[in-house]
Parts: sequence; structure tokens; C-alpha cells
Amino acid sequence: MIEWSNAAREPFPVRPRGRSLLRGLRRRCPACGEGRMFRAFLKVADRCAHCGEELHHHEADDTPAYFVIFIVGHIVVPLLLLVEMRFAPPLAVHFAIWPALTLVLALVLIAPIKGAVVAMQWAFGMHGFDPAPESSASQTTSRDITPS
Ligand SMILES: [Zn+2]
Repeated sequence: MIEWSNAAREPFPVRPRGRSLLRGLRRRCPACGEGRMFRAFLKVADRCAHCGEELHHHEADDTPAYFVIFIVGHIVVPLLLLVEMRFAPPLAVHFAIWPALTLVLALVLIAPIKGAVVAMQWAFGMHGFDPAPESSASQTTSRDITPS
């Protein structure tokens, strides 16, 4: 019989993922939906000013940038090809439109997407967002298994 050392683990609290995602996209606290998630453009607040939920556990890293590159690329490249095929404008027109559009879209999307990434980490209990981290299964080692 295998006995796990974290058998008495408290159940993870219900954190609706869709609601959390929408709150993150609005750059709001995933727990209450009222407090601001960011204290600066892309700086996540240590805790929610409204409900006190700790937000400093996030490890969004480069994930929001990857999503932004993916989304902006799928918008700009087809538009560029469509404009070239339909109108064949001079190269200067392309240089005037596409870098600017890419920059604007990236700046508009990066904060909501980072908010969504942090909110999903919160909803899944990742990176310290789990309220019972010392009993987490991720910290279980082979020494914690007691064969009988
Ligand atoms: Zn809050």
C-alpha cells in the first residue's frame, strides 16, 4: 500500500477559470474583479488594493509576449498580404503602415494578455497561488512515499 504524506490536504478552493480570465483581460484582480491588477503599465501589484488577494506569486515571464506575437502576427501578416495582392502599393506605404500597426497592437494587447496569464495562474493555483503550498503535491518527493 502506498501512503501519501499529503493525504490530509485541504481541497483547492473553487476558482472559476472563465471568470478569472475575463477579470484578468480587464486588468482586474482575479479574486474580486474590483481592484487593479497592475500598479504600473506591466508591473503586477503585490496585492489587490480592494480585497487584499496576494498577486505577487505570478510568474508570467515571457508568456504574454509570446501570445501577443502570435495574435499580432495573425492579424498583421494576412492584412499585409491582402493589401499587397489587392492594391500593390509602393514599398514606402508598407513601411508607413505595418510597423506602426504592429507596435500599436502590441502595446494595446500586452497588458490585458498579461492580466489574463496572471489570472489563469491564480485560477489554477500555480506558483504560490495555491493557499496550501506546504502540502502541495508538487513538493512530494519519493521519500514521502511509504511502502508497506
Ligand atoms: Zn481583489
